[in-house]
Amino acid sequence: MREFSNLIGGELRPADRMLDSVDPATGKVWARIPRSSADDADAAVAAARAAFPAWSAMPAAGRAHLLRKVAGVFAANARELAEMETRDNGRVIAETAKRDLPGMTYLWQLAAAECGAAVEGKTVILGPGSLGFTRRVPYGVVVGIIPWNSPISTFSAKAAFALAAGNTVVIKPAEQATASTLRLGELLREVLPPGVLNIVSGLGEEVGDALVRHPGVNRISLTGSTETARIITRASTDALKPLAFELGGKSPNIVFADADLDRAALGVSTQSVFTANAGQVCVAGSRILIERPIYAEMIDRITAIAREIRLGDPLSEETTMGPIVSQEQFQRVTGYLEIGAKEGAELVFGGRSGGEIVDEAYAGGYWVEPTLFATEDNALRVCQEEIFGPVAVALPFDTEEEAVAIANDSAYGLAAGVWTRDLGRAHRMCRDVEAGTVWVNTYRKMPPGLPFEGLKDSGYGHDSVLANTREKSCLIET
Ligand code: NAD
Repeated sequence: MREFSNLIGGELRPADRMLDSVDPATGKVWARIPRSSADDADAAVAAARAAFPAWSAMPAAGRAHLLRKVAGVFAANARELAEMETRDNGRVIAETAKRDLPGMTYLWQLAAAECGAAVEGKTVILGPGSLGFTRRVPYGVVVGIIPWNSPISTFSAKAAFALAAGNTVVIKPAEQATASTLRLGELLREVLPPGVLNIVSGLGEEVGDALVRHPGVNRISLTGSTETARIITRASTDALKPLAFELGGKSPNIVFADADLDRAALGVSTQSVFTANAGQVCVAGSRILIERPIYAEMIDRITAIAREIRLGDPLSEETTMGPIVSQEQFQRVTGYLEIGAKEGAELVFGGRSGGEIVDEAYAGGYWVEPTLFATEDNALRVCQEEIFGPVAVALPFDTEEEAVAIANDSAYGLAAGVWTRDLGRAHRMCRDVEAGTVWVNTYRKMPPGLPFEGLKDSGYGHDSVLANTREKSCLIET
């Protein structure tokens, strides 16, 4: 049994109370994590405030040097971190080891390279003897609140660019999957000055709420649900804290008849929902819109791909889909299997859940089969609500206009996929689909060089270096 501590002011500190961390593949407790209190939140913010003057005054090249060392820590410990994340949230090792961790080394190197951008301003000659210029300044203490589905990636996106910009940081991981983040705390305290990065784990309504309300916090960035974003907005209103929210989605993945159907079939199934963390990804393409002439063929292709998906030990390289993260989330996802059936959606494949669909050794885990519903009615709850599991809905359409109308008939606007060989249509869809990111002939690519920001109920703001700074204007007359 692993026991983890918070990272506060460069020290590993246990909390008075602890929480169990459950391996979702077996349903058994495998680690214990701090259930931090408002006092722990206070200590973390005080440490971050104390570290801020020196960190923000450090020349950009100095910060870049340290962030490159952080990138080295990710590279040197990649396998251990990947296995820990897989154990903690069930994301299969093929994803954590091959996709997530290599990407993190690159992300921290990129953040190091961007330290310079945080100190660049504009010069404006306003007239003889009148010089205007801007200075970028960090916010101060930035709190990053992260979800359970991809802790290492979300931790990195929040911490790397906030630190590059000269802020100090307090991270609050999600209670369902905290271990990999706390392990990073153990590793990174060897590299970063004390207090520059702090990590306090525990419950959202306890330590999370204490951080949100804390007067010493200057910016809050949440990746999580729309509901939590609303709670945080209300809790922080009086203090006028700047907020950034990366939230949920119900993303359309739209296949036109002229598409490369081999690529599209993979792109709308394994690459976007199902094996992609068992559908527990914010950008899951959970509404598959298919042009009517190829509808039956695409359904057959998706069904054939889904039959090949292998559930089981997430640490095995052969496994392509892991479990649902927790008992609570399992009940939510299986609840939608019942809702879809009651609403009259046709069950194309899947629909089973529980221990009987995997080897006996994993019977205690939280398993749901890849499931596809089909309907013509985008108003159904399974078409409108985020399920956050390996459950998708197929919807036919007849024209490009109708595809856009169905795609946009959603409270969310996080991402969209479009599969077509028609370049003009690709540009029209990029313009007309209401989503923060539109992928054409690809899906779920989020290179750090491109902003990732939701529209509508999917949030606003992001975690780039510039988003982590404010801009001052100065005017000198001589
Ligand atoms: P959640 O909102 O329940 O929890 C996210 C984090 O917020 C956790 O750390 C939690 O402890 C904390 N939290 C909860 N209540 C809080 C409060 N009152 N004050 C402060 N913090 C609080 O979300 P979740 O269930 O962990 O994650 C799933 C959601 O995250 C989905 O909606 C998913 O789409 C979204 N998500 C979005 C992105 C993105 O980049 N847009 C990425 C991953 C996940």
